[in-house]
Amino acid sequence: MENPLTPEVLADPVQLTRALVDIESVSLNEKAIADCVEEVLRGVPHLTTHRHGNTVMARTDLGRSQRVVLAGHLDTVPLNNNFPSTMRGDLMYGCGTSDMKSGTAYALHLAVTLPEPRYDVTYFFYEAEEIESRYNGLNLVAQAFPEWLQADFAVLLEPTYGIVEAGCQGTMRSVVTTTGVRAHSARSWHGVNAIHAAGEVLRRLQTYEARRVTIDGCDYREGMNAVRINGGVAGNVVPDLCEVEVNYRFAPDRTPAEAEAHLREVFAGFEVTVTDTAAGAAPGLDAAPAKEFLAAVGAAPIGKLGWTDVARFAAMGIPALNFGPGDPNLAHHPDEHVEISKIRDGAATLHRWLAPA
Ligand SMILES: [Zn+2]
Repeated sequence: MENPLTPEVLADPVQLTRALVDIESVSLNEKAIADCVEEVLRGVPHLTTHRHGNTVMARTDLGRSQRVVLAGHLDTVPLNNNFPSTMRGDLMYGCGTSDMKSGTAYALHLAVTLPEPRYDVTYFFYEAEEIESRYNGLNLVAQAFPEWLQADFAVLLEPTYGIVEAGCQGTMRSVVTTTGVRAHSARSWHGVNAIHAAGEVLRRLQTYEARRVTIDGCDYREGMNAVRINGGVAGNVVPDLCEVEVNYRFAPDRTPAEAEAHLREVFAGFEVTVTDTAAGAAPGLDAAPAKEFLAAVGAAPIGKLGWTDVARFAAMGIPALNFGPGDPNLAHHPDEHVEISKIRDGAATLHRWLAPA
């Protein structure tokens, strides 16, 4: 295949977005796109380029006092009659236009066109963000070459519709179990109904007042929800077991241990098993490059509610935020598209921030 990422395409973030969208790269099928990106980066004299699996990393080494990361994933969710891209007026439609090839295009465009950025920059083009974390390219690099990720600040170019979404909330999955005693439902007074006992669990969830908190000027809103319920033996048996799966989304000022303690407090008197936890990430907007980034954007940041790879950087002590042109509400949507003007605005913002003064 002829590499579609020509110098002319690389010079224009809009054309580059379209070219990236038109290289099919559903998760675990990123080889072709990674090959194209790697070939481009290896040809750029001011960058040192490495590859691990289908993740490509390129960095400047200008001896700047601060280093920043710009990261975008190369993969998309499965196609949905939205490949290749199409244009309708100011809108580009197609799989990955919003999430997140328009953002990834920024990193590639800047990598190629900005030989002397104000900070040293590490650019990441990584595989398998949309599937389980054991395939995630950033996760694999963090295990194999943690030094590649060393930086003072990171920007993940995920869709945020041109505003800064800082930090992210944590998530905890748990099971609240109620028990009873089995009996024939014809003589139910011999038993204790575990499903009825779950009524109290649901009542506590229904009346739960989720906390709101402001951290570094960003609002976070927690949530605790029953997401699944299991119970029952047969049509004529009083059930002895009921399990309510509860998902707790917690603000980044709580550690996973604190979140668990809170969960156990809410369900005091019940058996609670935590099955899965991912810590949140504080907004971390104090770092100098972060402050300058916010100044370049010129609009107040908001708290990120979903869990993102920002938390992977936070876990390494690197403040990180999300910033990209796509509309997050259109990510994974059959009508996924991106506004051309948003791509141009965001590219100008990143230039203001990174170009030498
Ligand atoms: Zn994404």
